[in-house]
Amino acid sequence: MENICAVFNGEFKDISEIKISPLSRAYTFSDSVYEVIPFYNESIIAFDKHIKRLKRSCSSLNIEADIEKSSKEILDLISSSNLQNGYVYYQISRGVDNLRSHMYSDDLEVESFGYVVEHSFESKNLKVLICDDIRWKRCDIKSTSLLGNVMNMNNAKNKKCDEIIMHKNNEITEGGASNVFFVMNKKICTPSLSSNILPGITRELLIKEIKKNGMLFEEGRYPVENLLGAESIWLTSSTKGLAQVNEIIDQENKIELDNEIFKKCERIFKDAFLGGG
Ligand code: PMP
Repeated sequence: MENICAVFNGEFKDISEIKISPLSRAYTFSDSVYEVIPFYNESIIAFDKHIKRLKRSCSSLNIEADIEKSSKEILDLISSSNLQNGYVYYQISRGVDNLRSHMYSDDLEVESFGYVVEHSFESKNLKVLICDDIRWKRCDIKSTSLLGNVMNMNNAKNKKCDEIIMHKNNEITEGGASNVFFVMNKKICTPSLSSNILPGITRELLIKEIKKNGMLFEEGRYPVENLLGAESIWLTSSTKGLAQVNEIIDQENKIELDNEIFKKCERIFKDAFLGGG
């Protein structure tokens, strides 16, 4: 394994040197939350928003974490990496129990783990599969319990797709690891936030720029059929940025690659957050 700079419970070391207990609740129950924090040209994109969401994820699950300590560890991982472009994965779990039990002990010590890796933020086009959203009802919490996403995304991988777009009762929710935007009758649309959707930070940053630039925009509830009639579709995330969908498999659609409205969104996003790059 190549060297990956990591931190576990406050100690910085190579990822291969970290030892974890099998009784960590991260291991037995996925009782943990996480963030992926991107940096570009050595500057962190929306650091405060990621920290705020980490805090919210912890408090939604009553995990009493020292978020200030975590923030410092994330910053230290980035500065010690000497990387220009990359991201930090950072996870906080409830800790190690004496025995596996759904009902956790009160005196657990929170466990934290993070690492930093290089990442290029090149735009990629995506082939997607539309599928049923089989996840739980609290997808607004950024928890590591992601089996619904994992099952759907590996089914998509077997069909040579790069991502999925999910729907619940025929209403579009989000991508497997991203939020969805599409253009319909020249208007930019995205599903409004709910407990079925992760409040993506890239989503929030892009919406702010769209509004600032006076572009036609709407958040709402949309049936899957809207995707098939859309002029352009793209997915957003901290590591993908804005990634156009160039194909929806097994479906007739009207996607126009490099649609003018998508290109403008890409430009205003890059200008605001990636120094025009
Ligand atoms: N939805 C899901 C399910 C995700 O996993 C992600 C990526 N973490 C997103 C949306 C996008 O969130 P962000 O823009 O904060 O990376």
